[in-house]
Amino acid sequence: AKLAGRNTLRFFDPVMQARVSTRAELESALWVGLEKEQFLLQYQPQVLADGRITGAEALLRWRHPERGMVSPAEFIPLAEENGFILPLGRWVLESACAQLAHWAHDARMAHLSVAVNVSARQFRQDAFVAEVIEILERSGANPARLKIELTENSLVTDIEGVIAKMAALKARGVGFLLDDFGTGYSSLAYLKRLPLDQIKIDQGFVRDILVDPNDAAIAKMVIVLADSLGLAVIAEGVETEAQRLFLEQQGCVAYQGYLFSRPLAVPDLESLVDASQRL
Ligand code: C2E
Ligand code: CA
Ligand code: CA
Ligand code: CA
Repeated sequence: AKLAGRNTLRFFDPVMQARVSTRAELESALWVGLEKEQFLLQYQPQVLADGRITGAEALLRWRHPERGMVSPAEFIPLAEENGFILPLGRWVLESACAQLAHWAHDARMAHLSVAVNVSARQFRQDAFVAEVIEILERSGANPARLKIELTENSLVTDIEGVIAKMAALKARGVGFLLDDFGTGYSSLAYLKRLPLDQIKIDQGFVRDILVDPNDAAIAKMVIVLADSLGLAVIAEGVETEAQRLFLEQQGCVAYQGYLFSRPLAVPDLESLVDASQRL
């Protein structure tokens, strides 16, 4: 009995209990958050060398009543694990498409594309293509303004299925971008088969591009590779003019990063686009 008592005590160890309840609480708080409209998108501009804004990446935020603004890094991994990413990812697509449809009637904003992050689990659903088409049709968004950002881990299994999904959406005009390229395991032969439009140079390579010759070599390689495959290239995480200039000298033409802007609430993005058009 003593032993059992000790086991029971250990089971209800305050530290353990705290750890368990944190995860369980986070899980139920996510559902409540979706229900209570606590999620929102911020938009980070994507710019050309002359400062013109051509699009924006939609980045998810969770405005928790007590914890404040929670970063996606804190809940996306759990959401992918427990399947919450499916309704959440759907909400992201709906919200981004509603925004696109709204901007279509705004002369300053109508030219912008919106890039949406789609997680591997979301993309692997059989119904993914039908879901995106339905959301596009219901929102009235122009499919040609929507870009889907995928990471290598979405693409490494079932290549035929992946190609079929991409082709079906590309036939409607949707674009595809490979995010975080170079951080995963896909081979170049594999990459060549995918109907991609753009490759994004990961911020992990941009960060030390001026001081780490390996990062500089990888960034150069990605730019050359994209060019030879006929793909556009964009660099993310560009924080300084020196980084931007180095990337430009290697042939990069599109950038995203704090040098230009942090992710912004919609009205702030609209003001920035407006101001950049008056230059
Ligand atoms: P990501 O797709 O690689 O997005 C880029 C991240 O870098 C964003 O972090 C962005 O705010 C940040 N960033 C942009 N410019 C700079 C810069 O100049 N310097 C630095 N240090 N960071 C910069 P964020 O918004 O915290 O998002 C983190 C990750 O969460 C994203 O990485 C993406 O993988 C995921 N995520 C965000 N929104 C969604 C979503 O709607 N769906 C899914 N599935 N994942 C999302
Ligand atoms: Ca991304
Ligand atoms: Ca990225
Ligand atoms: Ca990244």
